[in-house]
Amino acid sequence: MTFQDLPLKESLLKAIADRGYNEPTEIQAQAIPVLANQAIDFVGQAQTGTGKTAAFVLPLLNQVDVNSKDIQALILTPTRELANQICEEIKKLTTYEKIKTVAVYGGVSLDGQIKDLRRGRPQIVVGTPGRVLDLIERDILVLDAAKFAVLDEADEMLDMGFIDDVQTILSNFSEERKTWMFSATMPGPILNLINKYLKDPMVIKVKKKTLSNESITQKHFVVRGEHMTEAVCRILDSLENYYGMIFCRTKIDAKSLADELNSRGYPSDSLHGDMSQQQRDITMKNFKLKKINMLVCTDVAARGIDVDNLTHVINYGLPQDIEAYVHRIGRTGRAGQNGIALSIIEPSERRKLGAIEHNTKAKIDKALLPTAEELKEVLVRKEIKQIDQWLSDAIETDRENDLGFKVFTDKFADLSKEDVLKVVYGHLFKTQFDRYNKSPSLEIKERKPFERGERGTGRDDRRGNDFSGGRPQANSNGNVRFFVNVGREHGLDLRGLLDSVAEFANIDQRFIRNVDLKQSFSFLEVPEQYSEAILGIRGAAVGDRTVRFEVTTNQGAGAGPRREFRGGGDRGGDRGGRRPSGGGYRERSFNRGN
Ligand code: AMP
Repeated sequence: MTFQDLPLKESLLKAIADRGYNEPTEIQAQAIPVLANQAIDFVGQAQTGTGKTAAFVLPLLNQVDVNSKDIQALILTPTRELANQICEEIKKLTTYEKIKTVAVYGGVSLDGQIKDLRRGRPQIVVGTPGRVLDLIERDILVLDAAKFAVLDEADEMLDMGFIDDVQTILSNFSEERKTWMFSATMPGPILNLINKYLKDPMVIKVKKKTLSNESITQKHFVVRGEHMTEAVCRILDSLENYYGMIFCRTKIDAKSLADELNSRGYPSDSLHGDMSQQQRDITMKNFKLKKINMLVCTDVAARGIDVDNLTHVINYGLPQDIEAYVHRIGRTGRAGQNGIALSIIEPSERRKLGAIEHNTKAKIDKALLPTAEELKEVLVRKEIKQIDQWLSDAIETDRENDLGFKVFTDKFADLSKEDVLKVVYGHLFKTQFDRYNKSPSLEIKERKPFERGERGTGRDDRRGNDFSGGRPQANSNGNVRFFVNVGREHGLDLRGLLDSVAEFANIDQRFIRNVDLKQSFSFLEVPEQYSEAILGIRGAAVGDRTVRFEVTTNQGAGAGPRREFRGGGDRGGDRGGRRPSGGGYRERSFNRGN
């Protein structure tokens, strides 16, 4: 389908061509035919990056009466940036139309916006709910003639606590108005809003474009929390060129990371909730002009920022949910370009990363951060271009009458070329090399938690934790004691064992007691009522080894299993005699209990 196939005015088609849009995106192809000339309510489930803005802007522009000076459409957005961005899109698509639009949002003076509304007489107003409501209550924004209410990113407005304002605003429209809603997700309150304010809406859902975005290479690095900033620096050091965004979970992280990056010589700026509109505009301008190559921001502050030629997106920790991850990384790899999304995570975030991989069906390979030694090489290579330039400048400079130069050359006349190179090299890279030399090793000794083993069902399960002898008996302290066939040598540490057992048995960690992690096996206890949960664990593995739990006799650490320990782990495991010895472990003990 081309735009020519859509029922849009010629003037709009021309503007679309000027804008460089060749063919409609999925949401545009579905929404524009039904919205361009009809008066219906509409729900579009689509997120940023799908072209949803033009999907409602174009039909609005098609329906606006250019001869009327009344406000005919109000577009509500969760953020100032998104409001500005929509306004920009409208302006770009109305080069051949006399349609005016004004953006209104909090954080800037009301007076200017009142003037814009009174003098500008816009047909379309785009705004954030708080300021819009304020202007309605002052009788400055009059919606009597408005035919369309558009709620963009409705789920975000809900999350940001605007839902009451949105409802009050909707009640200011006439009954005849049509409501179009766009939302990436459809939680209960959004469905309620639809039921309450939309009449028999047409619903269109488009696939999350970025979920299947193969043009983004995704990788992750695991570091300790205190090394996250160093990890960002090493990544930046290792890149030839970058123009990207770093996402942080909190504004405190965003601020301090940007400060730290600047102090280490990486021009960057941050965008977060505490900034005035003016500060945000300056930051965005500098970023768009590429005066800064890295913008550090929070998810909320980054909403609606329209910069689509990013080379890299870096996650400084993972976001709250999978949607947000997809949203973040979707800012790179746009318009046929290849993008790179790098996630720096703490060990505790591994499971979340696994869930993201699973849900998005994307591969987020683990990568190793470059070592300080490797980075020295990269740094020198990067600088060589610059040095070439200095060389040609220096060689071309005439120093015949330069007395200073004469003193200099006389003094060092005996130096060999190699000595000179050593001096220049040491001096040029001193600051960076000093930092590398002082920088810590970022390697993490891998803790291996349980994984979902491939053989999570069937034969191994039967061999595993079956307990056929009735309820396991508790110690005198009310706990049931278990032998577990994995220990330190399988890569487990105490935390890994605790986390894993709690997760796989779906019980709270505080019920796992007296954990005794040995070289090749472990013991732990749980209150009697949780013993079935432990025996019910299925399909847990550490590497190749299926994890099994056996109820032991009740004599405390070192006591052997009450039932037969039926031999080796998979693939021979410890069949070769690496049985725990001593401590009362009785290999052959067979005690069915009661
Ligand atoms: P949105 O989902 O509305 O935030 O749009 C995401 C990006 O896609 C923006 O940079 C738009 O300018 C761009 N865009 C929207 N529609 C098209 C189209 N039909 N062809 C190419 N780019 C588009």
